[in-house]
Amino acid sequence: MSLQLYDTWTRSQREFTPLKPGEVGLYTCGPTVYNYAHIGNLRTYLFEDGLVRVLKLNGYRVNHVMNITDVGHLVSDGDDGEDKMEAGSKRTGQTAWTIAALYTDAFRADLKALNIQEPDVWCKATDNIPEQISFIEEIEKKGYTYRTSDGIYFDTSKQASYGHLGRLDIAGLQAGSRVDLGEKKHSTDYALWKFSAPEDHRQMEWDSPWGRGFPGWHIECSAMAHKYLGEYFDIHCGGEDHITVHHPNEISQTEAAYGTRLANFWMHGYFLITNDAKMSKSSGEFLRVQLLIDKGYDPIAYRYLCLTGHYRTQLSFSWETLDAAQTGLDRLRNNVYSLGEATTVDAGFFERLMEKLNDDLNFPQALALAFEVLKSGLAPGVKKATILKFDEAFGLGLTSWVPKIEDVPGDVRALAEARWTARNAKDWAEADRLRGELTARGWSMKDGKEDYTMTST
Ligand code: AMP
Ligand code: ZN
Repeated sequence: MSLQLYDTWTRSQREFTPLKPGEVGLYTCGPTVYNYAHIGNLRTYLFEDGLVRVLKLNGYRVNHVMNITDVGHLVSDGDDGEDKMEAGSKRTGQTAWTIAALYTDAFRADLKALNIQEPDVWCKATDNIPEQISFIEEIEKKGYTYRTSDGIYFDTSKQASYGHLGRLDIAGLQAGSRVDLGEKKHSTDYALWKFSAPEDHRQMEWDSPWGRGFPGWHIECSAMAHKYLGEYFDIHCGGEDHITVHHPNEISQTEAAYGTRLANFWMHGYFLITNDAKMSKSSGEFLRVQLLIDKGYDPIAYRYLCLTGHYRTQLSFSWETLDAAQTGLDRLRNNVYSLGEATTVDAGFFERLMEKLNDDLNFPQALALAFEVLKSGLAPGVKKATILKFDEAFGLGLTSWVPKIEDVPGDVRALAEARWTARNAKDWAEADRLRGELTARGWSMKDGKEDYTMTST
């Protein structure tokens, strides 16, 4: 089955064919580095990592570009309010530049903990100010901009196609927003460049043909996507919240400057939701990867949890669902580990895996198929090779996983130690008796040359 992906632009699942044979250009909107990422944000990056893995399994080379938003994203997500970076600086008492570096590093550590592959290109908004200025100049030349006292704005009324991605009801939006428009001509218009307010001492500001200030949030993605991937590339991704504002605005900028809708496929990951109002401050706890680790979870259990839900449906998070995911992951790890040496991949199961993954990344069904492999009558080595092949898509790190000695309860560990001593003393009867006790406790012991490993059965 050829790869089929859901495209938000056409609101349909359609066959993916790359624009250049064998190669995929992919742009994913990256984090705003004013604070740690919460596990909701990371669900979106896990979905995108799953996409990259499936593209690679289909034989494509992927050129993955991700931006780092380190300026211009305002607290309101619109065109007023404080810059999130400046607000983060006040919150922490450190400079905006320092926190940008700090939270970028923290974000990369989260990716590593979740076994998410890094993009081929990282690009920071603040490293690409001239590119953003030239892009705005291009839009200006085409006649889509106007000036207010606080910035240069994109006039969305000049573009008949504006808002198609979000299927926006433009007339309804305009009618409902007569108030609070300020100097903006239409509610959907947005800032391309904001002027630094005279009374405000911004830490991040630059000269431009229009005055000293900083870029609007949307322009960075159009400008950097253009720089690294060209005027029209294969896939652009982000979270579902971007369907109605950020991505329509990115599209309108590129459409104005270069006449394309930026990307052939637009894909969106649906939200992780919790009972609490805010993931970044729910019950006083910040739901971030470090909190999972502090509570004794393996971050990969969160990755496993995300595999159990399709990316186009919202996923409900609770500690109970994470417990269940940890149990499922432990079962898979222990079972795969105990299969011994991997031999050859079963072609039939691999074909079935690709059918599921190529059906718009159906990871939940692909994961269920892995358990079918385990239950099947295949030889242990074939089972193992097949599941390790599946794991190229899952990213659970099954190849390198070994049971941790610390995971073994103390009394079981003592039995194992006693058996190891008996075995080394060639007291086979005692060693066998102790192995029997371990089996009764639900543990198997595998002897190596220098040491042994333990697996719960
Ligand atoms: P931000 O750092 O706010 O720019 O967001 C980074 C990414 O996380 C964006 O692609 C958002 O769409 C996505 N995102 C934000 N909240 C959630 C959530 N609760 N679940 C999944 N993705 C989210
Ligand atoms: Zn973006």
